Amino acid sequence: MPKYSSETELCVSSCTLCPKLTQNRNQIVNGTGPEDADILLVGEAPGENEDENGEPFVGRSGDILNKALEKNNLSREKIRITNCVRCRPPNNRDPHKSEIENCNTHLNKEIDAVNPKVIIPLGRVPSETLIGKIDKITNMTGEKYTYQSKSCEAEILISVHPAATIYNRSLKPDFNSVFEKVTDIIK
Ligand code: URA
Repeated sequence: MPKYSSETELCVSSCTLCPKLTQNRNQIVNGTGPEDADILLVGEAPGENEDENGEPFVGRSGDILNKALEKNNLSREKIRITNCVRCRPPNNRDPHKSEIENCNTHLNKEIDAVNPKVIIPLGRVPSETLIGKIDKITNMTGEKYTYQSKSCEAEILISVHPAATIYNRSLKPDFNSVFEKVTDIIK
């Protein structure tokens, strides 16, 4: 039984564009949460737990994310959560550029359909996917950009990846403050 609801229309049920990922995955991990959410979180790619459960952010990074949401009275059930790449890269390596590009169609379709007020890319990979090449993610957390497509205009609020706060605890306050900021934006 999945922990977080995943609606069907934006689910990719089959895709074989990335041979290595297709071979390695247990399943495609689609976004979860309401299709009309005000907040869309975009991670990098599923890890082992996500690949087993078929839902994004259900492992250790998910626990850190859940704590930051709870701390700021944000209900995970009201937030759409997805990834740049929907299949787990072997040994949790970074997704390759071609894999990110292949999956971009799915991500763009999801962003346009959800049409959120705020998009929070969690980490360098999703931040670069949304705003282009960046220098140092840790210096940019909390910065705001605009996402603009034919059917969506949203604020982008840059964040470090939750897992980065495990290795560098000094990033925790900045990570938490992103979720304080988002509360102000969606008010
Ligand atoms: N890290 C991510 O970027 N995405 C997940 O779904 C889980 C961990």
